[in-house]
Amino acid sequence: MTTRLRAPFGELTEVADGIHAFMQLPGGWCLSNAGVIVGPDGVVLVDTAATVARAEALRDAVEGLRLGPIRTVINTHHHGDHVFGNCVFTPPAQIVAHELTGPEMAAAGLGLQSLWPDVSWGDVVLELPTVTFSRRMTLQLGERRVELHHVGPAHTTSDVVVWVPDANVLFAGDVVLPGCTPFNLMGSIRGSLAALDRLSGFGADIVVGGHGTVSGPEVFEQTASYLRWVLELAAEGVADGLSPLRTAGRSGYGEFGGLLDPERLVGNLHRAYLELTRPDLPLGADLDVLGAFGEMVEFAGGRPLSCYA
Ligand SMILES: [Zn+2]
Repeated sequence: MTTRLRAPFGELTEVADGIHAFMQLPGGWCLSNAGVIVGPDGVVLVDTAATVARAEALRDAVEGLRLGPIRTVINTHHHGDHVFGNCVFTPPAQIVAHELTGPEMAAAGLGLQSLWPDVSWGDVVLELPTVTFSRRMTLQLGERRVELHHVGPAHTTSDVVVWVPDANVLFAGDVVLPGCTPFNLMGSIRGSLAALDRLSGFGADIVVGGHGTVSGPEVFEQTASYLRWVLELAAEGVADGLSPLRTAGRSGYGEFGGLLDPERLVGNLHRAYLELTRPDLPLGADLDVLGAFGEMVEFAGGRPLSCYA
């Protein structure tokens, strides 16, 4: 029997006045970040971690700041590692998300847990969003304005970023993953490039991605250069009649092998292939996600993908 490696619970770091990041490093599969935005009579959370224990650690850390109750939770997208912890905060917190997030959460259910059955998920109860929007929404916390913008399809179809203009802080969800490989299997490569242009336009000084370390705006171009490379590989692979898996085998990880979870290349190529070969489909159209995960495992050597949650 082997002992599972487990990353420590996250800790809060104040990244700007009244804004904290709950980083769970190194930030690979299911080790997601969360955010805390302080208002005059309580705090707003951005995402809630993958497991009940990690969400409770987040709750305890926020309560330790003694800044008032957690009234509102924003979900940046529907993936379980960002929303499974909702049940630790609601009631009384309301859950705010894009209007596609609830249906996608309901469809995915607790399926993420079956990919990593050894993780101590806890007794997760899916808590769906209670307040939704389609394009944009503003929360007013006293003097502080918090803007929610739908920028998907990018990492998923429902991606929301959270912009705090008075502090120049952007919570970007999984649209950027500093130090980790971008992952667009369930979203769109071309949509992500468009989203990154929008994100650059906010003028953020501090970017909190959905996983990994807090970064500056340079992460937008770093992410875009990876995605452009994926599109180039896909175009060559389609032209040469190779499958996404064989295209990845031919290219290897190129200059991006130092990022965490590089096997995501295979999933990203599946998405890029669909966008190249089926331009009639909307960006973010369904594809065989589980099949692509199987090929990612194969490409990573046949062992389960590393998850330290
Ligand atoms: Zn995600």
